[in-house]
Amino acid sequence: MGSVALDSIESPSGKRENILGGSATYLSLAASYFSPVNLVSVVGSDFPDSHLEFLRERNIDLKGLIIKEDSKTFRWQGYYEGALNEAHTIKTEVNVLADFKPEIPQEYQDPDYLFLANINPDIQSEVLRQLKKAKFTVCDTMNYWITQKPESIKKVLTKVDAFMLNETELRQFSGEFNLLKAAKKVMGFGPGVVVVKRGDSGAMMFTGNSVFSLPAYPLKTIIDPTGAGDSFGGGFIGYICRQDSTEERILRKAMVYGSAIASFDVGGFGTERLKDLKFEEVEKRYQEFKKLTDF
Ligand code: AMP
Repeated sequence: MGSVALDSIESPSGKRENILGGSATYLSLAASYFSPVNLVSVVGSDFPDSHLEFLRERNIDLKGLIIKEDSKTFRWQGYYEGALNEAHTIKTEVNVLADFKPEIPQEYQDPDYLFLANINPDIQSEVLRQLKKAKFTVCDTMNYWITQKPESIKKVLTKVDAFMLNETELRQFSGEFNLLKAAKKVMGFGPGVVVVKRGDSGAMMFTGNSVFSLPAYPLKTIIDPTGAGDSFGGGFIGYICRQDSTEERILRKAMVYGSAIASFDVGGFGTERLKDLKFEEVEKRYQEFKKLTDF
């Protein structure tokens, strides 16, 4: 569950307008390498059929995707510069997401694994309200919602098992600069697991008293980092679902698979690179991560 969007993106490698994007899009595409996906979101009548076709081809079930007549799809416009670690938002047109009332199809109501991707935290709460408790629920957010609705995020956190966000957002949300202290503070709101995305510095996971730290795959060229965080999240939840386990060992491997898919996502604009990415390439990169971290 999350946003399905039309993005306009500018990076040092060029620009694209109104291309397929959204947190739930990247999440679903990445998760679909490991397990069937049920997507919950909303788009307007301006959303191209070709995008729906592409998502369906990837074994993503769209019964939970509302297509609202006479409405416009959520649009995000942003740019990247320098180390490309941070997205700068130029414009957010909430459009159809403004009054989105999720309608969870009957057959989705008892999920094993649930990922609440970045979207208005009140909508995340509404989705949780309509569902039976999953074996493992992850929630993501972003600076926009941390500024607008911190109390709503805290409410969501009382009901989820893991909180995933990037380093700057964790500091912003917790008010702590030190990541250990920040993670501990956030765990105090409910989730037993905190996963911190750190751009080209990799990712960290805090669980109880243990800390896991993974580098990012070293890349010479990044074309467009949009969706890296959500692809990471999709690979993470997809692998956990495939293994049907939330043991620490599995969560760590899930982070490596998430990082592997994210490292491909940034090699093209929008979802371009995920269109032709083969599972064998993901598996090969997972093995390369083993070499990268072996000592
Ligand atoms: P990331 O994985 O962090 O790069 O997320 C990229 C996606 O987030 C883009 O495709 C955007 O459409 C989407 N996005 C940007 N702002 C928002 C927002 N306020 N709510 C939901 N989705 C958003």
